[in-house]
Amino acid sequence: MGIKDRLKTGIQKNLNQKYIRRLLGIIATKPVLYAYGSTFPSIADKYLNVFTIESLKNAYSESHRPVGYGSLFLPYEMFHALGITPFLPEVMAGFTAGLGLAPQTLKEASSNWYSQDLCTFHRSASGAVELDAFPRPDFILTTNLACDAAQKSFYIYSVKYNIENNFYLIDVPYYYSNKSILYLTGQIKNICMDLCSKTGVKFDISRFKEVINLSNEFRKWAIKVNNLRKTLTNYPPYYNGLNFILPFHGLAGTREAVILYKQIYKELKNYLSKEKKENSSTGNKPVKRILWLHLKPYYRNEIFDILGRENCRVVFEEINHVYWSELNPEKPFESLAKKMLSHFLVGSIDNRISVILKAARDYKADGAILFSHWGCRQSNGGARIIKDSLKKLGIPTLVLDGDCVDQNNSSQGQVKTRLQGFIEILDSKQNRRKETNVYMRN
Ligand code: SF4
Repeated sequence: MGIKDRLKTGIQKNLNQKYIRRLLGIIATKPVLYAYGSTFPSIADKYLNVFTIESLKNAYSESHRPVGYGSLFLPYEMFHALGITPFLPEVMAGFTAGLGLAPQTLKEASSNWYSQDLCTFHRSASGAVELDAFPRPDFILTTNLACDAAQKSFYIYSVKYNIENNFYLIDVPYYYSNKSILYLTGQIKNICMDLCSKTGVKFDISRFKEVINLSNEFRKWAIKVNNLRKTLTNYPPYYNGLNFILPFHGLAGTREAVILYKQIYKELKNYLSKEKKENSSTGNKPVKRILWLHLKPYYRNEIFDILGRENCRVVFEEINHVYWSELNPEKPFESLAKKMLSHFLVGSIDNRISVILKAARDYKADGAILFSHWGCRQSNGGARIIKDSLKKLGIPTLVLDGDCVDQNNSSQGQVKTRLQGFIEILDSKQNRRKETNVYMRN
């Protein structure tokens, strides 16, 4: 049994804070981390795992207090500037799926009356909170961006830990306007000041500026990675752009995010030069280019193996779109407010559609797959209009029903059948294009 499987089995048998803390204490030591890191075929993947483990170790350790729970789309620059160790329950719910813990956490959520209708990112996280498997938070911050599940379930956590006074909700207005920027800037500033007075830490503007500069640096490399991917088709083994949610959000404003994205860029650039050489000498078979919308299942599944076998590549994921402008270190609160307001899930569905259509053009997508995660109203509600909009560009969309966390709520057989049907559509589209090219040449 390999190191990763041993970790999985250990944690499945001992899903409690004490065991997790002990485990992180062991695997986050330099020699073990080094050995663990060497099990990853890509350096970017290795960095991703090492930084994730270090960030988790901090959240579980008493020496990195205060710990703040945060929902996904918060500006984590706030946390890093104020010295609050972030812990992202929704991202951790993805880990519960990957580590095979979701059956336990979901069962616990059910026995505590969490509805089956609640998205499993929140249901699994709530089960883990009920089981005391997550670290105790000092603060809980959330937002209505992009769904309203976090504001409700996170509030329940604040009640459980008796910290209702340390629960903060950032209300992001529907429209991007000067009035909205002012309103949001005020909220972010007030929350930061309140957190400072509660932690007894003096607000340090130079630290805030430093974090904002690091965030800009990370943004620059993330954009470079995205630009590179416009022509890249071959990736390092097991590279999956849907695995980078924690650094893209939770590590924004840290040195680690900069190091990681610089590394991804370096690694992908090497692949691109290799690919250019190979293509010019062998003239490789064209791949079917897929644009991925929303998230993916985080438990072991066959989706990406099937796509790989059928010569399909996910060339871009909507969630990796850099949606915000460069932040102004002289105006940190306003910049973070603008960052939140710029998210394509804020406001009308037209904002999301224009990001998707641009990505479809930029990445020359042959088809799109929208993973329709059970219970995600904000994403699934727009599925039909997204499909229709892509159709106008001649791009077929597969709306693939499933669940990112709960394996039992996804039929693997049905997923396979629907994927195969979709691949046939892409094949016939590719064949038609080939025939037209031959005809034009003749
Ligand atoms: S998947 Fe959808 S419902 Fe679930 S947390 Fe994300 S945005 Fe909210």
